[in-house]
Amino acid sequence: MTTTKLSGRDLFAQRTSNVLGELEQSGQLKKLQMIEGPMDAEITLRDYGTVACFCSNNYLGLANHPDVVEAGIEGLQRYGAGTASVRFICGTFQAHEDLERTIAEFLDVEAAYTFVSCWTATEAMFPTVCEAGDLIVSDELNHACIIDAMRLTAGIKKGVKRTVYRHSDMDSLDTVLSEARKDPDVTGVIWVITDGVFSMEGDIAKLPEIRALCDEHGAMLCVDDSHGTGVMGETGRGTHEHRGMSGRDVDLFTGTLGKALGGGAGGYLAGSSAAIELIVQRARPTLFSNALPATVACSARKAIETLMNEPQRVAKLRENVAYARRGIRDAGFEVLESPTAICPIIIGDTAKAIAWSNRLLELGVFVIGFGFPVVPEGTARLRVQISAGHGPEHMDRLIDALKTLKAEVG
Ligand SMILES: *Cc1c(COP(=O)(O)O)cnc(C)c1O
Repeated sequence: MTTTKLSGRDLFAQRTSNVLGELEQSGQLKKLQMIEGPMDAEITLRDYGTVACFCSNNYLGLANHPDVVEAGIEGLQRYGAGTASVRFICGTFQAHEDLERTIAEFLDVEAAYTFVSCWTATEAMFPTVCEAGDLIVSDELNHACIIDAMRLTAGIKKGVKRTVYRHSDMDSLDTVLSEARKDPDVTGVIWVITDGVFSMEGDIAKLPEIRALCDEHGAMLCVDDSHGTGVMGETGRGTHEHRGMSGRDVDLFTGTLGKALGGGAGGYLAGSSAAIELIVQRARPTLFSNALPATVACSARKAIETLMNEPQRVAKLRENVAYARRGIRDAGFEVLESPTAICPIIIGDTAKAIAWSNRLLELGVFVIGFGFPVVPEGTARLRVQISAGHGPEHMDRLIDALKTLKAEVG
């Protein structure tokens, strides 16, 4: 008997076409908008012309700030296009040292180390700091990079356990930590990890309560503050500042340079000098993957310095957030309550969220609709993101477009 097997090429072509066909049919196929020119409060889309942008992470309006751009150009001229090496061979430049010192100062911790993304930083952290007998405890709504880094750690280091607690539920966290203390397999360090600001809900981690539970149960606290850094707290230090804590109350930070801090790219790990030295010596992404390009490091450092010198940007962002949230409600939409720059309008149905975001684009406002599987089934939403770079004219355009939409859909 002979069985005819499809070749790998044919099988892959068939499988891929099935997946893409299903996405198309269920209205979930994403269309990438082409942007001509820089990221800013107003951007030019190839298919829609000039629109007000309410879906970037450019929270402080620094992505196209003249000083940030100029620092990148100077960095390019001084250091060339890239490092052509990993950090420990010959890829560490003055620009990295300067940036890492600035990040550590900004967060008030001993040291920091940069990566090409926060995703990479997170995948560098857990597999390096964890050993057999350790347990990683994660909020169930943590960012995808944390979920993947936990899986990766369990795959690389046998005997590392992982579990989740219900979103921002301190009873659930307490229960998980109490049980862990009784688990004979958990003989090592317990790591609790949470987003500072949750990207889809726009709500804020209860850091003081989490810190207290960590202390009670002898656990380490890691915070990924990618949406909180530059946004939360009086001077934009992040979620810990908003909650009245110091950077030293967090054992390890991960964060991105691709959002409020200039928006270029890159991520970092920050904490004690010893923890960072361990990362330098042992983390696979630092040993086997190229450094952050020096030009990007120069822009990011300038962005952080600009933020430190101009804390009024954070105040402007806060004012804008309050204005926009009021306006969204006046337009007849419910927005999840929180002081963060993420304003989710819950729609429910995924296809509806996508159709409405398309309609807003026609009205000159760029807001993205998110549905399953990015958010739980039945909670599709429009996610409006506010920036300090928005003027009243941009926010009024958003509010007017929402009013028009409301009149059309009832
Ligand atoms: C955006 C985000 C990331 C990814 O950051 P990159 O630097 O783009 O990899 C990681 N964690 C959280 C919580 C984020 O919001």
